[in-house]
Amino acid sequence: MDLLHTMTHDSVRRRRAYVETYGCQMNISDGELMQGILAAQGFELADRPEEADVILVNTCAVREHAEQRVLGRVGQLRKLKKHRPDLVIGVTGCMAQRMGEALLERAPYVELVMGPDGYRRLPDALRNLRPGWLPAGAGAGDAAGARPAARAAPAGRRELPVLGAVPAAGSATAPVGGTAGAMPGVATSRPVSGGGVHATAPQRVAVLDFEPHENYEGLEVRRGSRVSAWVPIQRGCNYRCTYCIVPYTRGSEKNRDPERILEEVRGIAAQGIPEVVLLGQTVNSYEHGEWDFPRLLRAVARVDGIRRVRFTSPHPNDVSERLVEVMATEPAVCRQLHLPVQAGHDRTLKRMLRRYTVAGYLEKVRMVRSAIPDIALSTDVIVAFPGETEEEFEATLDLLRAVRYDDAFLYRYSPRDGTPATRLPREQFIPDAVAQERLERVIALQRKIQAEINRGEVGRTVEVLVEREARSEGDMLGRTESNKVVAFPGGPELVGRFLRVRLTGTTGATFTGEVVGPGEEVGRVA
Ligand code: SF4
Repeated sequence: MDLLHTMTHDSVRRRRAYVETYGCQMNISDGELMQGILAAQGFELADRPEEADVILVNTCAVREHAEQRVLGRVGQLRKLKKHRPDLVIGVTGCMAQRMGEALLERAPYVELVMGPDGYRRLPDALRNLRPGWLPAGAGAGDAAGARPAARAAPAGRRELPVLGAVPAAGSATAPVGGTAGAMPGVATSRPVSGGGVHATAPQRVAVLDFEPHENYEGLEVRRGSRVSAWVPIQRGCNYRCTYCIVPYTRGSEKNRDPERILEEVRGIAAQGIPEVVLLGQTVNSYEHGEWDFPRLLRAVARVDGIRRVRFTSPHPNDVSERLVEVMATEPAVCRQLHLPVQAGHDRTLKRMLRRYTVAGYLEKVRMVRSAIPDIALSTDVIVAFPGETEEEFEATLDLLRAVRYDDAFLYRYSPRDGTPATRLPREQFIPDAVAQERLERVIALQRKIQAEINRGEVGRTVEVLVEREARSEGDMLGRTESNKVVAFPGGPELVGRFLRVRLTGTTGATFTGEVVGPGEEVGRVA
């Protein structure tokens, strides 16, 4: 069906959409999903917000700082409405889910808030906001570019009767729908009574339901890279770490059908994309019928044309001997493991509800390193968790010294409303100055360790997959199997190629290098 020809006269111009993503890899992947949904509905994807009719700010709620940034950004985007009053500004993702209708109250120029389980209903929501911009009736999954509807997820396509559109806040017209507790003038995705639609009235829409089966099966994504593809295999999380908002914004763990995942990976390989990154909140807890994560990883690694497989983020408790055996024996699985530790003292780990001890974690590290001695390890650390003593903080520094990670993402504890840690006694919260000082100490230590490790690699020849142009003119950036970035002289025609590069120097974090030849055929051909 040619969607453009189904549009009404005043909407003949092809509408443009822009998705701006903040946060983790899962969010980047969700951004690609939304782009795919919008493109399938006839939207052109804009490169800049200034060119767009619909701007979706795809957000993260993990840290307060990220939320403040998003609020500031949305405020900036509001200025575009001066020249383009019918511009739709929407906020999607974890922050939209966390703040919900309060976000509409705080930013009245935002017309759409949509949580991570709501994207299938994006076309319906936009149709509610701007009748005539989208063809009637085609939900995500039915439009051009989508896979056959017969293969849709259990949630499938369904109407959005719950989006009883109501007049905007401040309108003289009384709301016609509404949920107990919903702010007046906001249509929510929760059941409403009435549900009459004022098509001409300005509306705002909140889609915030959890969909226990939604894994976006059957929808095409618009991939942002021709070198590496994100493949979400799982959504949500069944762990309940006390500092983490994810279980409250993304719900419980939902795993995709392995056959669909493999079909997607084969499609990626057929497009000539050589690397896949399997994504999940606790990716290695994946389970579906007879399939577990090691089995899936092996099957993905054996897909013809896939030369590199990575996965993130695993939970230490789900690192098993079978997983390590697959990592050690499948040539396409990268020798790199991100293994979040969060803290180096048992008392802190217990209060974080991480469900392992320092000794148990170190045992996993030993198991991995004895099977794969040259594996590159990275981690996440949170310092100044409420109640963390100086001694406990020092234990985290000791752990970094003991493991010697190749890379680490280091954070200060940031309270998120609704998480159990925020209910710890106030006097346990670490003063800002102390928290900042701990963060600076842990950063300094990790930089030192990382620089030592990287200096030891200078002179080696490694294989890189060329990703993109570097900022410095005439240089390209490639990534090693161990996830390290190398800049070397070359042109954009090298993107997507595997090259052997000799490491000639390091800044401590990244490398410079020179090409010594083409890469080897390391990927398995089934
Ligand atoms: Fe959050 Fe813990 Fe789940 Fe990771 S494992 S997403 S930190 S609850």
